[in-house]
Amino acid sequence: MLEENSVSLKKLNTFGVDSVARTLITLSSDSDFSLLSKKMAKYSRHLIIGAGSNLLFVNDFDGLILKAEINNYEIKEETKDHVLIEAGASDNWHQFVLRTLADGYSGLENLALIPGTVGAAPVQNIGAYGVELEKHFYSLEAYDLNTGTRVTLTKSDCKFGYRDSIFKQEVNRYLILKVTFILNKSFEPVIDYGPLQLTFNNKIEGSYGPIDVAKEVMKIRASKLPDPTTLGNAGSFFKNPVVDKDKLDELKSSFPSLIYYDTEVENRYKLAAGWLIDRLGLRGYRIGDAGVHEMQALVLVNYGRATGQDIYELSLSVQKAVNDTYGINLEPEVRIFR
Ligand code: FAD
Ligand code: NAP
Repeated sequence: MLEENSVSLKKLNTFGVDSVARTLITLSSDSDFSLLSKKMAKYSRHLIIGAGSNLLFVNDFDGLILKAEINNYEIKEETKDHVLIEAGASDNWHQFVLRTLADGYSGLENLALIPGTVGAAPVQNIGAYGVELEKHFYSLEAYDLNTGTRVTLTKSDCKFGYRDSIFKQEVNRYLILKVTFILNKSFEPVIDYGPLQLTFNNKIEGSYGPIDVAKEVMKIRASKLPDPTTLGNAGSFFKNPVVDKDKLDELKSSFPSLIYYDTEVENRYKLAAGWLIDRLGLRGYRIGDAGVHEMQALVLVNYGRATGQDIYELSLSVQKAVNDTYGINLEPEVRIFR
C-alpha cells in the first residue's frame, strides 16, 4: 500500500486541472485491502480513480482517493467460438484492446483508442461506434467497500445501460479489481456508424478483419478528437439526451435538420448533443482558457491554465444555452467533484 498526502492531481486527470487531494492510497495486494476499512474511517469522503479521463475536479479534493494497481492478461477459458480473457483494473484500455486483437480475438475493435483503464470501463459501460462494453462483458471481481469483502459481479448484477451501470447507481461502493471479457474467435463486424459504413460497406466480407476496423476507428478518432496529452479534455462532457416522440416532433418542426436516432426502447429517441451545441454557434466558444472544442462541440477543453471552476462554469453556460433554446437539460457524462 502506498499512502501519499497533499497529492497534486494534475497528472491524474486528463483535463490537467491542478487540484490537490488530501490523501491518495494505491492498493495492489490482498494485505492492502485488509487494512483499508481502518484507513477509510478517517475520511468523510472517498473516490476511486483510474486514469482520470472522465472526471472534473472543480476544487481541491478534501478526502481519500483510492487507486487499484493491478495488471493482468490471462485466458481463463476457451471454447470453439469464444474465449474468456481477464484483465487487471489498472491496465490501459486501448493497449488491452490491441493485445486481444493481436492474439486473434475480436469484439472490442470499435472501442479502440478510448482513454482510461480497464477497471473504469464497466463504470460507464463505455461505448463507441455502435458497440458498448456490455456486449463483451462476462464478469468482474471487485472489493465491496461497504462490507469489506471481495465479490464477483455478473453481467446482470452490473445493470448496464446507456453510459450507465450499478457503479454509477451505487457510487463509490465497488473497487473494481479485474474484469473478464468474452471475445469472439470469428469476426462479426459492426459497421453501422456512418464513417465505418463508408469505408467497409463496399468491401467483400472476408477481405478485411477486426484490426482493419480498429485502425479505421483510430484514424477517425485521431482526426476529430483532441488528444488529452496535448489538449486537456475528458471526451464528451454531456450525454446525448433521450426524448419522447412529442418532444422530438416539437424540435423537428423548429429545427428541421435536427440529428436524432431511434433507440431500442419504444417512444425514446436519442439526440446528438454535439449537434444541439454546435447549432447554437458555440463551437470554439471560450471563457478564458476553458473552451468548447473547435471540431467537436460536445468536448470541453483546457487550453492551458483553466481551473476546474472555469471548466465547470463553461459547462453551466452551455447547459443554460441548450435549455433556453431547446428546453432540454443536458446531463454531464463527466463525473464532477465540487
Ligand atoms: P476515471 O476517469 O479515473 O474514472 C471514471 C469513473 O470510474 C469514476 O466514477 C471513477 O470513480 C470510476 N472508477 C475508475 N476506476 C475504477 C475502479 N477500478 N473501480 C471502480 N470504479 C472506478 N467514453 C466512452 O464511453 N466512449 C468513448 O468513445 C470515449 N471517448 C473518450 C475520448 C477522450 C479523448 C476522452 C478524454 C475520454 C473519452 N471517454 C469515452 C471517457 C473515458 O475515456 C471513459 O469513461 C473511461 O472509461 C474512463 O477511464 P479512467 O480510467 O480514466 O476512469
Ligand atoms: P458522431 O459519429 O459525429 O455522431 C454524433 C452522435 O450521433 C454520437 O454521439 C452517436 O451516439 C450518434 N450516432 C451517430 N451514428 C449513429 C448511428 N448509426 N446509430 C446511433 N447513433 C449514432 O460522433 P463522434 O463524436 O465522432 O463519436 C463517435 C463515437 O465515439 C460515438 O459512438 C461516441 O459516443 C464515441 N465517443 C464518445 C466519447 C465520450 O467521451 N463518451 C468521446 C468521443 C467519442 P453515441 O454517442 O450514442 O454513439
